[in-house]
Amino acid sequence: MSTTTGARVEFRALRRTFGTTVALDGLDLTVEPGELMALLGPSGCGKTTALRMVAGFDHPDAGQVLVDGTDIVNVPANRRDAGMVFQSYSLFPNLSARDNVAFGLRIRKVPSHARRTRADELLELVGLPTQGNRFPHQLSGGQQQRVALARALALRPRVLLLDEPLSALDAQVRLTLREEISRLQKELGITTIFVTHDQEEALSIADRVAVLRDGRLEQCDTPVDLYRSPATAFVAGFVGTMNRIPGHLTGDGAVTVVGQRLPVTGTAPAGPEVDVLVRPEDLRVSADDDGDARVVTASFLGATTRLFLRLPDGAGVKADLPTRDAAALTPGTQVLVRLVDHPVMVAAR
Ligand code: ATP
Repeated sequence: MSTTTGARVEFRALRRTFGTTVALDGLDLTVEPGELMALLGPSGCGKTTALRMVAGFDHPDAGQVLVDGTDIVNVPANRRDAGMVFQSYSLFPNLSARDNVAFGLRIRKVPSHARRTRADELLELVGLPTQGNRFPHQLSGGQQQRVALARALALRPRVLLLDEPLSALDAQVRLTLREEISRLQKELGITTIFVTHDQEEALSIADRVAVLRDGRLEQCDTPVDLYRSPATAFVAGFVGTMNRIPGHLTGDGAVTVVGQRLPVTGTAPAGPEVDVLVRPEDLRVSADDDGDARVVTASFLGATTRLFLRLPDGAGVKADLPTRDAAALTPGTQVLVRLVDHPVMVAAR
């Protein structure tokens, strides 16, 4: 199987409105050759619209989509170098898996023998070496999505567009296929844009994640940087679990929270009453008869245990502890809650 060289895809000041709805509001984003970029964001933030612009299924009101530096907005969809996979498998029900994969090759008048060879090669690549003769209704959801993936790759596109490809599958299949897409993508070196609203999926699969909000880019970073250094309170709240704990700005670059004084990182809103943003793993919890917080529930998650705690001012917080440290922290236990000692982000209350 030959290796594909991925293209660079750039969205430049991309704008698209539907009546009074602004789907894309000046989207700027560059996807590097061979990169797997996840587009993440709440429902309606413009993810699918952005993807459709690359595929050629939609046209912007303004702005550009550059593929290797060339604006493609006026290139018809069938002349674009992109393969797309949708949430619903959208296979042709009356064609076998092999013929589904070979469909685009047939349109391009590839001779039948070469079509068959290429389709079988692709079915093998996606883990379906013996299912070529089966029809879609004879395949599981996961298998159908593999066929859809093979079909999208048939014309050796330089960009692969995946629109929530795993959302319709059950949890176990979703995990397996997620890993396989990641492996395949790296193996082929194909630039991939993966739309999802599932942040765990985005963090686990992507080289970088672009968080969209109201049709604009909010932040684009590696999963680790996005999680550890969110640029805005929106990203902090959207990516991973984040507690908001009432705090009080001191006026000299610090905040007091649960009786602690910590430096503030990033820009602080006008105070003094603010919310301090804290990850569940950045809370320290110890049983303490003088502690003024209380364990409400403890959920065993294997290696970690998630505690739901009630602070004295009524705020509920989540804390993740290694299970071995959580044995004594049963519901009702009085506890002392502290933040790990490093700078914190704060947001308007
Ligand atoms: P989801 O996660 O729910 O799929 P999304 O982030 O992919 O959302 P888009 O499908 O890109 O969002 O839609 C962005 C906005 O544009 C939404 O408000 C949507 O209702 C609107 N929109 C998209 N397509 C159309 C259309 N063909 N006609 C009218 N409005 C549309």
